[in-house]
This record gives sequence, structure tokens and C-alpha cells, in this order.
Amino acid sequence: MTDDISQTFAAQLLDMREQLIERLRAQRGGQASAVEAAQSARAEASDDWATANAERDLDFALQAHETEELNLIDAALARIADGTYGVCEDCACDIPAARLHANPFTARCIDCQSKLEARA
Ligand SMILES: [Zn+2]
Repeated sequence: MTDDISQTFAAQLLDMREQLIERLRAQRGGQASAVEAAQSARAEASDDWATANAERDLDFALQAHETEELNLIDAALARIADGTYGVCEDCACDIPAARLHANPFTARCIDCQSKLEARA
């Protein structure tokens, strides 16, 4: 992978990263940490426990998903920095550019990813 192309993906990943962090911040109502969000969710929950709990659980599930995505993006940026970006983690083949465009933080080729998902 040439530096030019890596830089394009790096810019895209940084963009995605910023949007994710914005989204996480919005979900937490501007609160800095999940702990603060949980505390305020508990405070609000006194009126209607069941509804508030369900909403909070959903928020946390979304956040877990987005936190995971953030980790994947950071890992991809680290691979760009150390020059291993675009190489499959499992079989060391070059991940096709089309796949990277569709999913810039993927660490595996389609074959290895589907094997991994079949195991899970
Ligand atoms: Zn592979």
C-alpha cells in the first residue's frame, strides 16, 4: 500500500473517529463519562423505573458498540502508523482496496473474517 493511499484512509478513519466521539458525547448528554451518565439515568429512573432502565440499557448497548468501533478505528490508525495497514491479520494477504473502502478499519480479508465469524 502506498503512502498516498494510506493517508487517504487515515483521513477517513480520523473523520469516522471524530463522528463517533461526537455521537458518544451526544448520547451521554454532554456528560464526560459513562459513570456520570449512569448516575443521572438512575436519578431520572425514580419516576418510571422500567422505562428508564430499558432506555438506559439500550444507550449502554449502543455505547458498547460504538466504543468497540472506536477501538477498531484506533487499531487501524496504529496499523497505518506502523505500515501494516491493509494486510490481513490472519493470512497476511493484501486486503482488497474495495473492502477497505467499504470498511476502512477492517483487519482481515473477507475469507479470514468469515472464518472468524463462523467460529464465533
Ligand atoms: Zn486473510
